[in-house]
Amino acid sequence: MLKFRGQPERKPQNELQPFCGLISCASCGMMITAENKTKRQKNGNVHEYTYYRCTKKRKDFKCPEMSLRSEELDKQLSSLIQKVSLPKDWAEELNRLALQDYKNSAPSLTACVEEKKKKISSLSEKLERLLTGYLDQVIDQPDYCLQKAKLLSEKKSLQKEMTSLSHKQNDWLAPFQNWLKDAQSLDKIAYDSDLFAKKVCAKEIFGSHLLLGEKTIRPAEGGASNSFG
Ligand SMILES: [Zn+2]
Repeated sequence: MLKFRGQPERKPQNELQPFCGLISCASCGMMITAENKTKRQKNGNVHEYTYYRCTKKRKDFKCPEMSLRSEELDKQLSSLIQKVSLPKDWAEELNRLALQDYKNSAPSLTACVEEKKKKISSLSEKLERLLTGYLDQVIDQPDYCLQKAKLLSEKKSLQKEMTSLSHKQNDWLAPFQNWLKDAQSLDKIAYDSDLFAKKVCAKEIFGSHLLLGEKTIRPAEGGASNSFG
């Protein structure tokens, strides 16, 4: 057997890859695992690739799914996370309105403060629920549009509320801005190069309901769209 000069030592077999344990196979329901492949060119260059593929452990089912390059999976996952983040322009508009309101606000008038608090907290809850709706459910286009329309109409009523309220305390601003930051940070994580952070984020958003099929990653519909039904 030939020995190649400079051939790297074998990698540990179970080297932890970021997206292991996150995704199931859309065809057979088995977990998606990672596999390292080394390609050596004639000029001596060595390329390491990571592929994700179905473990194909089911004995009663011949899984037809192909493997997917790590970079491609990362790209798709990023785009899924990005879809559920609060769009930057919405966040900016909400923040602008909040700041405007903050500036215009006068020191406390108890009744108004109470009313203001109630409205802001109800607004925050609505936004929270909207976000949760995105996160918990399959993100298909009609649903997304519906949610978007809801948010926009919510925004209009927010504007009205903001204008009509002229006296309030300002202790709502920081929590509200924090909420905006959280909802927006998903967008940053989506494009972050820290794949483990991305995995944690994806797990939080999609739970164990991500499927890989036909080289495409997607959230499972109702968590039961694989052949396990
Ligand atoms: Zn499979």
